[in-house]
Amino acid sequence: MKLPIMETDFLIIGGGSAGCIAAMHALQAKPDLRVTIFEKSDIVYGGSIARGMDALNIVAIPGRTDAQMYLEAIRAMSGGIVDAGPSYVMADRSYALLKEMEGWGVTFPKDENGQYKTLRYHVKGEFQTAMDEPELKAMLVQRALSRGAKPVNRVMGIRLLTDSGRVAGAIGLNVRTGQLVICKAKAVLVASGGVSRFTMPNSEYLYGVYDYPGNTGDGFAMALKAGAGVTGMEYTQRTMLIKDSNMPLLAICVTRGGKVLDCNGKVIMEGEVNNINAMNEAFTQGRGPVHIQLSHLPEEKIREIEHILFTTERPVNERFFAGRRIDFRKQDIELWPTEYYLCGGHGLAGIRVNERAETAVPGLYAAGDVASVAKQHLTGAFVFGEIAAEQAVKYIREEPDVQIPEEQVQEEQELHQARFSSKGKDIDIHDLERKMRRMVADYLVSPKNSHKFDLWKYWSETFSKDLEHVSAGNGHELSKVYEVANILLCADCSALAGDFRKESRWGECHKRSDYPERDDANWKCHVVIKMNNGTLEAQKTRISELGEEVVL
Ligand SMILES: Cc1cc2nc3c(=O)[nH]c(=O)nc-3n(C[C@H](O)[C@H](O)[C@H](O)COP(=O)(O)OP(=O)(O)OC[C@H]3O[C@@H](n4cnc5c(N)ncnc54)[C@H](O)[C@@H]3O)c2cc1C
Repeated sequence: MKLPIMETDFLIIGGGSAGCIAAMHALQAKPDLRVTIFEKSDIVYGGSIARGMDALNIVAIPGRTDAQMYLEAIRAMSGGIVDAGPSYVMADRSYALLKEMEGWGVTFPKDENGQYKTLRYHVKGEFQTAMDEPELKAMLVQRALSRGAKPVNRVMGIRLLTDSGRVAGAIGLNVRTGQLVICKAKAVLVASGGVSRFTMPNSEYLYGVYDYPGNTGDGFAMALKAGAGVTGMEYTQRTMLIKDSNMPLLAICVTRGGKVLDCNGKVIMEGEVNNINAMNEAFTQGRGPVHIQLSHLPEEKIREIEHILFTTERPVNERFFAGRRIDFRKQDIELWPTEYYLCGGHGLAGIRVNERAETAVPGLYAAGDVASVAKQHLTGAFVFGEIAAEQAVKYIREEPDVQIPEEQVQEEQELHQARFSSKGKDIDIHDLERKMRRMVADYLVSPKNSHKFDLWKYWSETFSKDLEHVSAGNGHELSKVYEVANILLCADCSALAGDFRKESRWGECHKRSDYPERDDANWKCHVVIKMNNGTLEAQKTRISELGEEVVL
């Protein structure tokens, strides 16, 4: 069946932080540009922000810190595996971003001397800048839509289309009806977040994860299949979160004087928020669970913490703590390690991009948690969303038109037809996802070794075959099949990169029992994964002085 084709100039896949700001800036630069956003959920609520945020984690405030100091901090925090160009550009543009956000009405609180309130999050310099904005997502969306961006809600990008190696648009899937949507576009931005559902959370709820649960590595999978590389997939990370609710509060509490204690009441973290190793050690040595103590703080500080916690990121915190009868003045907050995830926002995993947000595929850009700018957080999503918009506008103006590749559409239609049925199929997609994520936790996270990576190969093949027997009776179940297939591909990339990197680095994020030492002589480089005729291949690469990628 021939499907109708939607035409646009700039297609954005993912209407979260990076996607919305990119739409806004593209239309600011060229008001008559046609900008379309595929958003898997509803653009008003989708993504990591969902509502608001309590800090802009990287701002180089003139006179206090600068981009060079940030580079030193991020190098230390990323075990030396950092592309200087993108990280420098991000920090360099961060203060202008803060000023722009103030123009939207976002509040950045100041101290009694009129200085922005900054907090220590990095090993060097106070880059984390307090923000108090419960309506951040609504503000962003309103700005993008009022300039003319067209959101296509409940449509999940499933495949990028290419015409002679250039991006030509994408195919989407309506997650309610199960219908395909074809969109022709001269430039595409992938801004669909990381892989939040990588292993199971401690609570055992499939979607009860820290990062936005709709981010299932779709962008990684689409970019790989279109010819772009991904990197940092061996950086499997997890964090310490409020037990059972899996909501964050470390940065909010510790930066305001909270202490992290082990089960013996010994302080293991104070005045810093990034010593995940100290907390992990407490658990592995039987000194867990760890707790955050706030009871020693003055009432005014506790109220400040409550205000942020109960209004900005996840306001449901207030009901959660009330339900558990926890009053920060009297009780400590219990923290547990939970699921592992892959992400360019808090971690190092992402589609390979340069400082112009360009991928290896002409016309294809990536920004935010799906892109490989080390630990870029919200600052990176915003700065690179903006940079991607600038580049896309230029590219659309200068490059000739593209054609929809009929054979790629047909191939995807055939896969869609095969997946969209329940007849004679007997596997429930939720059962398959649960089992797969359990195996990812068994074989692909630290402690890692070659034997485990070999065992994963058997399970990967098994899950691929199982996917053909999943019953998808409606659009919603069908979308889960695509999600699970993408998580599986990301797991395969993580297995290949993890096996390839024959050393240990980044503490718990890549600890190999068969190669326990860090080996800078051989491994101070990126491991980039590419897809060649359907097969994943790993390479060592380094960025040259000229900013070009060199295969080692
Ligand atoms: C709980 C939490 C607290 C945080 N706190 C801070 C903080 O205080 N300060 C800070 O600097 N950073 C913080 N961060 C990090 C920051 O929020 C993220 O780095 C940033 O928002 C990522 O933006 P993004 O656009 O890449 O992804 P998101 O904002 O997550 O957006 C991705 C969007 O893509 C959509 N999507 C996914 N797949 C598809 C698909 N196939 N097709 C179409 N749409 C798709 C999703 O529905 C979602 O709307 C926090 C993150 C979390 C999770």
